[in-house]
Amino acid sequence: MSADQSYSFFQNVERSFDKAAKFTKWDKGLLEQIKACNSVYRMRFPVKMDDGRIEVIEAYRVQHSQHKSPCKGGIRFSDEVNQDEVMALAALMTYKCAIVNVPFGGGKGGIKINPRNYSAYELEKITRRYTAELVKKNFIGPGIDVPAPDYGTGEREMSWIVDTYSSLKPGEIDSAGCVTGKPISQGGVRGRKGATGLGVFYGIREVCNMPDMMKKLGLTTGIEGKTVVVQGLGNVGYHSAKFFREGGATVVAIAEYEGAIYKADGINEEELFQHRKATGSILNFHGATNLAKNTDALELECDILIPAALENVINGENAPRVKAKIIGEAANGPLTPEADAVFIEKGILVVPDMYLNAGGVTVSYFEWLKNLSHVRYGRMEKRFDENQNAKILAQLESLTGKKVTEKERLNIMHGADEVDLVHSGLEETMISATNEIMEIWKSNPEIPDMRTAAYVNAINKVATSYAELGIFP
Ligand code: GLU
Repeated sequence: MSADQSYSFFQNVERSFDKAAKFTKWDKGLLEQIKACNSVYRMRFPVKMDDGRIEVIEAYRVQHSQHKSPCKGGIRFSDEVNQDEVMALAALMTYKCAIVNVPFGGGKGGIKINPRNYSAYELEKITRRYTAELVKKNFIGPGIDVPAPDYGTGEREMSWIVDTYSSLKPGEIDSAGCVTGKPISQGGVRGRKGATGLGVFYGIREVCNMPDMMKKLGLTTGIEGKTVVVQGLGNVGYHSAKFFREGGATVVAIAEYEGAIYKADGINEEELFQHRKATGSILNFHGATNLAKNTDALELECDILIPAALENVINGENAPRVKAKIIGEAANGPLTPEADAVFIEKGILVVPDMYLNAGGVTVSYFEWLKNLSHVRYGRMEKRFDENQNAKILAQLESLTGKKVTEKERLNIMHGADEVDLVHSGLEETMISATNEIMEIWKSNPEIPDMRTAAYVNAINKVATSYAELGIFP
């Protein structure tokens, strides 16, 4: 719970929605339908633990919207999971998919456990039983509802899910498409793991390349030389830090639940990850200073702040102390509407979650398409393209009488691999989404912030799709 205790997470999503709905022309009833969570499945099931104890597990799957099928969204393992949280996260998925033109409705799942307190075997039993419960109620399937990783889950859990689903649905030819974020050997797509972090980078890079935006913030254009603080060293935080560092920014601080560290000349996320693996903590990293509290990192002087952990971490209480010029929401819902109000007032640019962290679901969409088509991206054209490129190059060389170097030859000839195509699709998606939202924001001076512009875009797209379904003549 945030310092802004009076509203739940789902209510905060509704408040942001209502703020944006005023800038649209849609019927009140239709807006109510878009906001509502269509189906909530709350389950409890027993699992026998390694010591013979039986534990009753509480879990959820929420389908926020079926204006497109299947529903899509991750499954989180956290002891903070509750119905309101899963509903809020499912709603954000609906808006996120609409913004990036991924043809899914929003869904989300959660199991109320701290995975650190369970053995791998116990986690496997919990995950498989959860999947079986979803199958029983028809809450999972390539055309129904497709889970993915989220906070506390990853490739391992997704492979348990696909295996359980496939064994319960023998002969279903598209069963690999019942979940995304799988390991490659189980039908995953190359580039999915780092996709959310890479999407965050592409989105912020696009904003930083806008001279008018940067001028307003008193910053130079481009990512190069910008200072970045990342909260969270999970999959999203780790990859965000990696891509910002590789893009020429300096990651000056990283926070995790055990504390935070600061290093003015930059942190290498992989070295820090290894240090944490060896010592159990990010603290005492060579050349870095430990910060007293992990939340202190959010208040450091920097150009870009990336909250990449959980919701409600920046609220009305600590927002006035935040000094970043740009906040990129890699997590879902890290800012409360009270924090938004402070940042509008202070002129800090908030790049909102439901488009900035859409890289994960975008690449999940590519994975799902791969599963339905039963063919790896690039398999058909890679060799053909390379042969064509070699012929063109040979012609150019004979016409000019000059030869390129071996390195240049390999570069020119290269036909796209799966990961090249996935990254290209993701880059295109994030650039177009950024520009669409910015256009909406610029076209109406009354729209106070980028989040509201993103919601306006999402509402228009979902409403159009409902209207086209003909449910509301
Ligand atoms: N859990 C991620 C999210 O919140 C990914 C969801 C997906 O790939 O379906 O966007």
